[in-house]
Amino acid sequence: TATHDRPSHGSPNLSQIGGLSEVIRELRELVEIPLKRPELLEKLGLEPPRGVLLVGPPGTGKTLTARSLAGELGVNYIAINGPEIVGKYYGEAEARLRQLFEKAARSAPCLIFIDEIDSLAPDRAKVEGEVEKRIVGQLLGLMDGFAPTEGVIVLAATNRPNHLDPALRRPGRFDREVSFGVPDDRARLEILQILTRSMPLAESVDLEAIAAKCVGFVGADLKALSQKAAYFALRRLVPELDAPIPEQMTVTEEDFRQALRAIEPSVLRSLALEV
Ligand code: ATP
Repeated sequence: TATHDRPSHGSPNLSQIGGLSEVIRELRELVEIPLKRPELLEKLGLEPPRGVLLVGPPGTGKTLTARSLAGELGVNYIAINGPEIVGKYYGEAEARLRQLFEKAARSAPCLIFIDEIDSLAPDRAKVEGEVEKRIVGQLLGLMDGFAPTEGVIVLAATNRPNHLDPALRRPGRFDREVSFGVPDDRARLEILQILTRSMPLAESVDLEAIAAKCVGFVGADLKALSQKAAYFALRRLVPELDAPIPEQMTVTEEDFRQALRAIEPSVLRSLALEV
């Protein structure tokens, strides 16, 4: 459920994120000083945020950004998966949450990341179960329970902000919001450049043209696309497992063309499910 680690060389960093420089700047501004120099804010009587909502569709890089930000700032990171806490720990969800928040306080400065917070804190007016309601209450209590200058900030991701319990958005809880949109042409190009950085691309590959064709693709889709293209290259270059490694291995325009035919952006996939 939780990963708790000092950022290592293996953890992602901000240079692996494309098209989100404005979002990253905003987030950094919100969390850097409170986490690293909380005493500065205290002196000025400034209240740092305790919670920030990251709102946006799946696959737009919310998790990647939270984790990379912790790495970049050199602070501890605890990841909580909303559905998993409710599912796996059902009866003990409240205790589990409390433990994780306590652990964060002990390891301050620390960034807590709650993925799919809507499953932990759905609107109480709309849920039946008593347990579900208690979990929401517990989370609210935990948000109120730590001092804003304690060196703990909670980032929480959701793609359904309207399903959240409104009490969660009150001042002192998740009162800031940063939005992760579906990337535009430029952002898609930036993401593709990053995702293919370690791939041997043939001269023929025109990332700009590919980006232009990928309207509606989010970062996760672009990752699937570039991985798929590389697999097509692999299949073409090494048709048999015991075939020798060719001298020249490149991923070509044609590999990308095939990959594009094989992949649909996740937005369209979810539309297809709904019909
Ligand atoms: P979910 O809500 O489904 O958890 P998310 O918004 O947290 O989605 P991530 O899990 O961060 O999205 O994205 C999945 C993967 O897609 C990332 O690990 C990364 O490889 C790729 N990716 C997504 N967005 C970007 C981006 N902006 N730049 C580079 N890679 C990205």
